[in-house]
Amino acid sequence: MGDQKILVTEPTLPPLEDFIPLLEDIWDRKWLTNNGHYHQELEKALADYLGVPYISLFSNGTLALITALQALRIQGEVITTPYSFVATTHSLCWNGIQPVFCDIDPKTLNLDPEKIEAAITPNTSAIMPVHVYGNPCDVERIENIANNYGLKVIYDAAHAFGVKYKGQSVLNFGDLSILSFHATKVFNTIEGGAIISPDKKTKDRIDKLKNFGFSGETTVVAPGINAKMNELQSAFGLLQLRDIDNNIEKRKAVVNHYREQLKDISGVSFMDDMIHVDHNYAYFPIFVDKYLYGMDRDDLYEKLQEHNIYGRRYFYPLISSFSMYRHLKSANPDNLPVSNEIAEKVICLPLYPELEKSVIDNIIDIIRK
Ligand SMILES: *Cc1c(COP(=O)(O)O)cnc(C)c1O
Repeated sequence: MGDQKILVTEPTLPPLEDFIPLLEDIWDRKWLTNNGHYHQELEKALADYLGVPYISLFSNGTLALITALQALRIQGEVITTPYSFVATTHSLCWNGIQPVFCDIDPKTLNLDPEKIEAAITPNTSAIMPVHVYGNPCDVERIENIANNYGLKVIYDAAHAFGVKYKGQSVLNFGDLSILSFHATKVFNTIEGGAIISPDKKTKDRIDKLKNFGFSGETTVVAPGINAKMNELQSAFGLLQLRDIDNNIEKRKAVVNHYREQLKDISGVSFMDDMIHVDHNYAYFPIFVDKYLYGMDRDDLYEKLQEHNIYGRRYFYPLISSFSMYRHLKSANPDNLPVSNEIAEKVICLPLYPELEKSVIDNIIDIIRK
């Protein structure tokens, strides 16, 4: 392969010439942040595109997670997955909440509903599942468990932009859902995030929390934080939205090409589309069985790098194995056998709308040996 490094993702950018007039308008308005014109426009456009009742924009997904927990006054213990990006559990920590790790389903790689009940204690107040790779959790069974035990459900939906389950946005399940608009995500505002709320009252509370807790010029009603999205990023986001469907289609073509070419390679498996789901094709993880494939995941990962292909081991190491969490009882690998097995096998291959077919074919040739 050439000298050019192929990374796991490449950010999508709007045409620069489209951004300039919006920048000129922001310069004219001289209103840079605090619920400005483009912030309001982007909230409307996103609620409409996603098919959700209310959305609050944030400066990033992690602050959205932290604020969502504040908004619902979650305390005590929260059941979550170790198979995610580290921000999921960190957001609990920043609220003084005890994370309780629960294992994942070997098919969806999301929190296993069969195992949630065993993790519930009198201190449990909520469940924080993740729609890993944008594949929906078993939202119906999770809702049932939450209702039976009086628990809140906050979805880390950082990967699930635009994903639909049974024809409606997967973001409409649970009490709140959180999105990330980081540069590496399917829809990006460089840095950014959002909380989806079911009603106006909840959105209003969240909007106060992201602005220091101000409810008026001189009234502060909560120990809020500063997590507002600014006007430049909001305008940037509006332009990104124009191309989103097209980009998801291009991602789908990349994924289908990978699937077609990888299906007869022994020891390499991948996930298929799920029934009742409109996917966003955010990631393309493969799973390496070292006995069948004849080489372990790390060797393949390094071999790809020798050819300038930089996949990422999402999610390895597990969150439960980081030093600040591994002492927890629920972090014991015996409690998390599926998570531990998958974390040893996974590599996410490069996937972005402009990834060329010839590059994909090269990647497949390297995997085929
Ligand atoms: C990206 C990501 C986050 C964090 O979002 P930021 O916008 O980068 O703060 C949280 N959870 C998951 C699962 C993510 O992938």
